[in-house]
Amino acid sequence: MLDSKVTRITSLYFHVPFCAQKCAYCAFYSEPSSGELINRYVAALIRELEIVADDLRPHTIFFGGGTPSLLNLRQWEQILQAMERLNLLGAEEFTVECNPATVSADKARLFRDFGVNRVSMGVQSLDEALLDRLGRIHSRAMVFKSFDLLRQAGFDNLNLDLMFAIPGQTQAIWRATLDEALALGSEHLSSYEVIYEDDTPLFAQLQAGEFDVDEDLACAMYEEMIERATTAGFQQYEIANFARNRSELRTPDFELPRFACRHNVNYWRGGSFYGLGPSATGYVRGVRTKNWANTQLYCEQLEKGHRAIESHEELPPLKRAGETAAFGLRLVAGWPFEEFQRTTSFDLRREWSADMNQLAGRGWAEISPDGFHLTRQGLRFADAAAEMFLR
Ligand code: SF4
Repeated sequence: MLDSKVTRITSLYFHVPFCAQKCAYCAFYSEPSSGELINRYVAALIRELEIVADDLRPHTIFFGGGTPSLLNLRQWEQILQAMERLNLLGAEEFTVECNPATVSADKARLFRDFGVNRVSMGVQSLDEALLDRLGRIHSRAMVFKSFDLLRQAGFDNLNLDLMFAIPGQTQAIWRATLDEALALGSEHLSSYEVIYEDDTPLFAQLQAGEFDVDEDLACAMYEEMIERATTAGFQQYEIANFARNRSELRTPDFELPRFACRHNVNYWRGGSFYGLGPSATGYVRGVRTKNWANTQLYCEQLEKGHRAIESHEELPPLKRAGETAAFGLRLVAGWPFEEFQRTTSFDLRREWSADMNQLAGRGWAEISPDGFHLTRQGLRFADAAAEMFLR
């Protein structure tokens, strides 16, 4: 039993490592589904959840993948009933990632019944040829149909994931996708530039010279996204994330739009979280863990009654604070000095003064009496800026 004085962990992530087929650009851990292995995975996941349940009081829950919506009704029921039995339902934000091809009215109803209140839909593009190019299993029509179905089921917090700088995507195609996606009226929008990861078909095509990367076009697409999303009433709160409803209530230290993804904000703010499922990472009281990225092995370990952790890492405090600083810079609000100090016990103004001044000098950042944040230009180079904070 956990010491009753220990503060429980409030953030919980589940990785569902199955997809109907592999997308051309994807380097996440996932594999084509098979009924029997999924059943075995569900039992193992519940076992893992039982092991950590005592240390959890989730305010945010996120099922990501892979394709969580690929699990069938029966499998979802088993997981959600286990969560209920372990007293883990009732989170303020409970997200499930869905592929537009695998949303059904029955699943949507089941999700609602167990307190899922946010769905994140992997749309990527609304251009049929590009969906094909990416190896996605859904069509444009499925996006519109699933969106309506989720609304009818009562979901009032929906995210759409889009992708830009896809090979073959022109500015006009991107604009059309953006406009149609914005017209749907979701509460949240995430949009990422294509990344060429080793060992993906898209990377192999790039290596083979089948297309070139056009950085200027990618920049123009990013700028257009900011303009159009802002005009449509979204507030950008992170490099690639936009949400509706500018909050009138300021949180103690910084402002977030009402529909910002609290689960992800916890990551960017260096908060603790449990990560369950194959390949999932966790971060609990300064210790980072990573589960085995192998579903078979994951199940075997849990069937023997212990967690399937491949590695533990406890960073020295300054190194940990540097990483926390770097992550938090992804947020448009940056880091309020006091909040950073509360989170890490270090003072940004002492440890990173030279780095902050250098970034401000380049026009990439602004320093105020209360905090430090990247400018719009700086956000575009956030990875390079973040590196300067690592120790
Ligand atoms: S659906 Fe998502 S996780 Fe699955 S292969 Fe495609 S990009 Fe990867």
